[in-house]
Amino acid sequence: MFLFTFVQSVRAYDKVVVVIDPGHGGENLDEGSESGAIYREEILERDVDLITAKAMRDELSAYPNVTVYMTREDNRAISLEDRVSFAKSVDADIMISVHYNASVAHKFYGAEIFTSAFSDCYSVGQGAATCIMNRWKEYGLPDKGIKTRLGSSGHDYYGVIRHGVEMDVPVIIIEHGYLDNDTDFERLGNEDAYNDMGILDARGIADYYGLKKNVMSESIAPTVKIKAPEDKAEPDSTDPKDMNVVIDAYYPSDNTIDFTIHASEEESKLMYYGITYDGQPGQIEDEDFNELILWDQDKESMSGNIGLPEDLSRNLIFRVYNQYCLYTDFEVSKNVIDIAVNKANSAIEAENAENTGNNDPDGEAGEEEISGETEASETKISEGTVTQDRPDEIRVSGSRASQNNSTENENMVLYLLIFVLVIVAILIFFVIIILIRKML
Ligand SMILES: [Zn+2]
Repeated sequence: MFLFTFVQSVRAYDKVVVVIDPGHGGENLDEGSESGAIYREEILERDVDLITAKAMRDELSAYPNVTVYMTREDNRAISLEDRVSFAKSVDADIMISVHYNASVAHKFYGAEIFTSAFSDCYSVGQGAATCIMNRWKEYGLPDKGIKTRLGSSGHDYYGVIRHGVEMDVPVIIIEHGYLDNDTDFERLGNEDAYNDMGILDARGIADYYGLKKNVMSESIAPTVKIKAPEDKAEPDSTDPKDMNVVIDAYYPSDNTIDFTIHASEEESKLMYYGITYDGQPGQIEDEDFNELILWDQDKESMSGNIGLPEDLSRNLIFRVYNQYCLYTDFEVSKNVIDIAVNKANSAIEAENAENTGNNDPDGEAGEEEISGETEASETKISEGTVTQDRPDEIRVSGSRASQNNSTENENMVLYLLIFVLVIVAILIFFVIIILIRKML
């Protein structure tokens, strides 16, 4: 038998039993099940899980209607089955398995929770997970979903959750974030954050059971009720749909493009998008992409601006991920980029031609004419080139272009003014010379 630590027991009319299970544990660092993920070659997930779990225990212990146990309070190896057996032996209402995440390409970030796909284990797990996720959002953690995952046998994929179903103990796996990813490490990779996470976890559980701190309640019941599935709650197994990418504008001055990505997702939610110039279509991996950009989960399209390489020889590939890391790619061929570049260049020529002719009775007529053809109404001049913007399409950096535009126009006026002043100065100089000669 393992030594399990009994933390606190408060006599109550009605109480819940929560078992906190710090993930992993043990000395064998070659064994991922013992060390957990190893971050930056020195931070061990098994240790971080324990810090968060202890903070969770301490916070939860301040609620009278709850009894808290931990599956381990130090570094020791425990099998998944023994963890759940222990929870069963203390008649746990829920067991929370505390983890931090990692991915092969180190690209993913955000917080996710896994529950069983079956029966009351699903209902309780999803309800508690919803409350915990809401607390995490307060801390700014991106929501990567409350999910189920099935193995090839059709049962729950994760052993600890599967044993939970076998023993009728709802088990959830809470993954606070990816400490191998720079974005998540920045907000989560320190002692304070590990503790904060445990406090938020505890408050999420308290929210779920309607517990009040330092107040004994006569009776308690889950505040979020979720129906058990008739068979099982299937995870999302389909890629994002309806993907399309539009190149909105090209800027020769800094060799960048504005783009808009459209996509839809029905079973789960869209999570990130990435862009690569390097990948061979059909062979690109997660690591080929730039830093993934969070998809605003309320939107069906996202806009942005990126620089192009000096010599773009390959197609641009955009990738959209959903919360299950299933993805869809969209190739923007080099031809499409060339068309945007040519459009910008021919707009420059058209504008130059009109400026040279300069026979408009009304100075603004030329611009109106162009915008009438759904082309740009703005032109900007920079270092001898003129770029045309396309305000008829969605752009993220519209303000950027118009700012450049006005400062560049101001510069032109300044140059003209200096030019005129120099001519006048030369004329005055000659007049003075002539006058002096006459006087002599
Ligand atoms: Zn883990």
